[in-house]
Order: sequence, then structure tokens, then C-alpha cells
Amino acid sequence: MDFELSPEEKKLQEETRQFVDREIRPLVPVIEKKKSYPIEIVKRLARQGIYRLLIPKEYGGIYETVRSLPICVAREELGRGHNFAGASIATQGLGSYPLVLAGSAEIRERYLPRVASGEIVPAFALTEPEAGSDAGSLQTKALREGDYYRINGTKCFISNAGIAQYIVLFAKTNPSLGAKGISAILVETGAPGYEVTRQMEILAIDVVNELQFKDCLVPRANLLGEEGKGFSVAMQTLDLLRCSVGAHAVGIAQEAFDLALAYAKKRVQFGKPIAKHQAIQLKLANMIVEINCGRLLVYQAALAKDTGQSDVTFKSSMAKYYATEMAQRVVDQAVQIHGGYGVLVDDFPLERLYREVRAPRIYEGTSEIQQLIIANHFVKEQKR
Ligand SMILES: Cc1cc2nc3c(=O)[nH]c(=O)nc-3n(C[C@H](O)[C@H](O)[C@H](O)COP(=O)(O)OP(=O)(O)OC[C@H]3O[C@@H](n4cnc5c(N)ncnc54)[C@H](O)[C@@H]3O)c2cc1C
Repeated sequence: MDFELSPEEKKLQEETRQFVDREIRPLVPVIEKKKSYPIEIVKRLARQGIYRLLIPKEYGGIYETVRSLPICVAREELGRGHNFAGASIATQGLGSYPLVLAGSAEIRERYLPRVASGEIVPAFALTEPEAGSDAGSLQTKALREGDYYRINGTKCFISNAGIAQYIVLFAKTNPSLGAKGISAILVETGAPGYEVTRQMEILAIDVVNELQFKDCLVPRANLLGEEGKGFSVAMQTLDLLRCSVGAHAVGIAQEAFDLALAYAKKRVQFGKPIAKHQAIQLKLANMIVEINCGRLLVYQAALAKDTGQSDVTFKSSMAKYYATEMAQRVVDQAVQIHGGYGVLVDDFPLERLYREVRAPRIYEGTSEIQQLIIANHFVKEQKR
């Protein structure tokens, strides 16, 4: 088994790292102060060609088919730079992969090249006020009416919806069938009856919105795949991107470790740098071992997806669960190593990492839901 990245993946890693140092880090103080939508990050990611990782070559992407490992390699580096940079590659993918999986030729041609170039920002609308972890119980309805679907319902926590040109909506076309009645439908955001009702302020800088549909009419041609197959489209999309949440968390943890190490080498207490005190060394050792475990789980899950293994859901859940929980522990230790300076809001970046590390344990399936998936892999399928 080879754990080395290929020369091509190492090049992507290096180029993304340099891009983050050159173009993302200088933006961070401005974005954090303004607390407004960081559109400049989207523009720069687009110029760098990052979104092309999410789209097949035929529609302006980099690889013949969409591959998870390069997405994870890039997202780890982006996550080191700023939360929104790491999240942006995922939200772009959440909104485009359902089209890759199930869009008609016309829909793919119309939207995917513009997602690849960053001209279009899409969104993925699954969660509702009464349906979070239990997404199959969603209540939004899209009922057929001639050549249209009439949509009514509410969505919440939808990343980028406030600035998206289209959203991939998951709604019930046949409410009596439960999750089997869910369909995926592309909704252009200018459609009458579609309204962004709230910007939900999150601990870290992010753009998350509540949406309402009131008799919103959308052409039936906007259906992605078949009626009733929407839940499967959503789950396959999460299979691609869930382990990249783990990669994002590994990036945050690596950033926290690098900062803690540098600080521990220069901070002198009791006559020597604190890095020379054994209690600090033990913390540093545990942090880096955990980071490497997280990274290996992420690579394993991404490879499972890219090589079509049947246990990709199990592996990506392990990667997401372990890496996000691990990153929380690592950031906490990094704050501790910084002492009082770790909780200073202005000059030290640890406070920002402390905020950024929290949400990844919740979105794209909470830690508890990942644990259920991991356990059920053995319990339901009676695997050893
Ligand atoms: C920053 C951010 C961005 C997001 N972006 C998007 C997006 O773009 N699109 C989208 O559709 N959604 C998005 N979400 C929503 C996200 O996916 C949900 O918040 C998440 O799935 C959890 O749902 P919930 O918040 O309703 O919590 P709930 O499902 O109500 O869970 C509450 C608690 O109960 C636990 N719980 C629930 N069921 C069980 C169970 N069976 N066993 C044990 N514990 C359980 C959960 O783990 C959690 O601790 C985003 C959320 C955040 C925070």
C-alpha cells in the first residue's frame, strides 16, 4: 500500500500552499474585520483554477472524472489559510456534483463550465428547520403542475444561497413515499416565489442562509435525474465531499500545530523556551500524531471514492468524524500552549481557528451521525 501522493498531487499541494500564502492570508485581516461576504476569495480561487477540480474535463475541469483525492489535497491547504477558502471549494462541489451525477446534457452544458470558471456560485439545499440529521423527513414539496413543479417550503443553513445563481433543491415530488419521494431540482435563484429570508450568522466567517419557497414555479426540465432519486443524489454528493471536510479540519489542525510549535520555541519561561519543557513536548507529540492519523484516514477515504470501492461511505464517515474531532482537540492544545495570548482576539490567529474548527463537526452530518454510519457498517452488514 502506497501512502505517498503522486507527483501530480504533490504539485497541486505545493501550488495551492503557495497560492494560500500569496493570495489568501493577506486577505484574512480585512475579511475578519468586515464580516461581509468574502467574494474576493471566490474570485481568487476561480483565477487559481481551484473550482476546475470539481468538474469533469469535458465541461472545463481538470480531470476526466471528478476525483476526491485532489479535492482533499487542495482543501487541506485552503483550510489552513481561512475557513471560507476551505468551505468554498466544498459548497461549489455540493452545488455542481448533483449536475455531474444526474443533470441532463443541456443542464450540464449550461452550468458546469461556468461553475468551473467560478462565474457561477451554486448552493445545495437539503436541510430544513424540522429536518437536519433526519434529512429524509424534509417537508418542502415540489408538486407537478403541467410542465412545471410548484414548490413550497423552507430551507435553512444553506451555504452561499444568498449569492448563488442556482440552488440544487431537494424536495418531495411524492410526499407519500417518504425519502423515496424526494427529487433533486435545479432552481434558478431569480425565480418568482424564491426568497432568501435570512442570513444566519455563524461562529466563523461563512455565508449561510434561510430560504423560502412560496408557489415557486420551476420547469420540469430542471429535474436532476429521475423523480424519487433525489435522496440518492444527495448521499452520493456527500460521499464525494464528506471526507474533504476531514481534509479541511486537518488543515486547521496543521495550522494550529505550526503556530504552537513556533510560539513554543520562542516563548521563554523558567529560563528556557517552553518547547524545552517536557509537558509542552508531550502536547506537541500528541498533536502531530493525531494530525497524521487524520490525514491518512482522509487519503484512505478519498482513494476509496476514486477507485470505486464499495465501503466509501464508511471510510469517509471515519475520516470526517476522526479528523474534525481531532482538529478540535489540537486547536484547543495550541491555544493552551499560547497561554493568555491564545485567547487574544486581535493579534494572534488562534482565536479565529478556535471559532473555525467548531462547525465542521456539525455540517455534512454531525459527529454522532458519522458514528452511527461507522457502527452500522458492522452491525447491519455483520462485517468483522
Ligand atoms: C456552517 C454550516 C453550513 C451548512 N451548510 C449547509 C448546506 O449548504 N446545505 C444544507 O442542506 N445544510 C447545511 N448545513 C446544515 C447541516 O448539515 C445540519 O446543521 C446538520 O446536518 C445537523 O442538523 P441540525 O442542525 O438540524 O441538527 P439535529 O439533526 O437537530 O441534531 C441535533 C443534535 O442531535 C444529534 N442527533 C440527531 N439525530 C441523532 C441520532 N439518530 N442519534 C444520535 N444523535 C442524534 C445530532 O448529532 C446533534 O448533536 C450547514 C450547517 C452549518 C452549521
